[in-house]
Amino acid sequence: MTANLLDFDLEGLAAFCEQLGEKRFRAVQLFRWIHQKGASDFAQMTDLARGLRDKLPAVCAITDLPVLSRQDSADGTIKWLFDVGDGNAVETVFIPEEDRGTLCISSQAGCAVGCRFCSTGHQGFSRNLTTGEILAQLWHAEHFLRRHLKRGERVITNVVMMGMGEPLQNYNALVPALRVMLDDHGYGLSRRRVTVSTSGVVPMIDRLAQDCPVALAVSLHAPGDALRDDLVPLNRKYPIAELLDACLRYLPAAPRDFITFEYCMLDGVNDQPAHALQLLDLLRSHGARGVPCKINLIPFNPFPDSGLTCSPRAAVQRFAQVLIEGGLVTTVRKTRGDDIDAACGQLAGDVLDRTSAAQRLARRRQASEHTIRFVHKERQA
Ligand code: SAH
Ligand code: SF4
Repeated sequence: MTANLLDFDLEGLAAFCEQLGEKRFRAVQLFRWIHQKGASDFAQMTDLARGLRDKLPAVCAITDLPVLSRQDSADGTIKWLFDVGDGNAVETVFIPEEDRGTLCISSQAGCAVGCRFCSTGHQGFSRNLTTGEILAQLWHAEHFLRRHLKRGERVITNVVMMGMGEPLQNYNALVPALRVMLDDHGYGLSRRRVTVSTSGVVPMIDRLAQDCPVALAVSLHAPGDALRDDLVPLNRKYPIAELLDACLRYLPAAPRDFITFEYCMLDGVNDQPAHALQLLDLLRSHGARGVPCKINLIPFNPFPDSGLTCSPRAAVQRFAQVLIEGGLVTTVRKTRGDDIDAACGQLAGDVLDRTSAAQRLARRRQASEHTIRFVHKERQA
């Protein structure tokens, strides 16, 4: 079977080279060609020994994901739909900002957690992505963007594991992919600029602290267990107190001295001032001294059949105000790529039932009757 070199972190590639009777330093050369230069053809790799260059095509390849579609938003956001076989597709979103370029990467086709407000969750779970499939999203996007924007240097400065899927339920594939993102011979991203977002897989938060501590975002969405049980079913297994304990254990290893808590604002469900007060109390008092954190309020992005609507703008602001007055740094996530359904939780990757542009437009119009659609600056305390 042909190996996919995108499946390997540097250690893995060194072991692979050793199996071929090659010295380890060859792995560094090969790794740099792949990730830093975006090469997929061994013939291009001119400083590799001729013997190795000739031997590689028979045993391995650099396997990109087939692109089903690419959509460019008016605000510069780009969304790719990648084919991962058997009718499954995953989405990857590039979000340019003045001082950075963030890539939002998927970790699974579908998701088994089944959060009520998430389109991926409604779709159910198909399968885990391989390390190569996780990394191909970065490899493809980075080298496409360099060509597209005619830039020689790095375009993607930040990675967030906030696409489709629960990254900590695909731990074994995730960690080597993170290592390649961080590796100086790979993408050389700092740990602070790589974020794993999780719905709260407690044991894996502990393992991540040991194996590859990067920035951690935790999808909280509710200040108490009864509501969180309903919104994020994984809470029944790992309730809030256990999750916050895991956050406290993670912090000493973390590259930042806070945890980001994501909170999706759902009209009439979790967005009342009483919820904000309860959240404040929870985060300030847990573990006696509280959990050092920042709160990121995400306006709910509607999708068909969710039965939920986004909190009115005033409710989001009131909620933020309570947290800010209580001393928590709170931001409201700006909506990006709205015209191409690239916003959080709209990633459905459904190839078989893809709606037409006209249908999408109609759906958006319908949704906006109930929803505020604001694109406004992240506000900070
Ligand atoms: N499974 C991981 C990462 C992917 S989801 C997690 O749940 O953290 C990335 C973020 O988008 C999470 O905070 C998630 O709660 C949020 N999200 C999901 N659906 C959403 C929607 N419809 N509107 C707004 N945010 C959503
Ligand atoms: Fe899965 Fe995250 Fe969506 Fe929940 S919010 S269903 S954990 S992808």
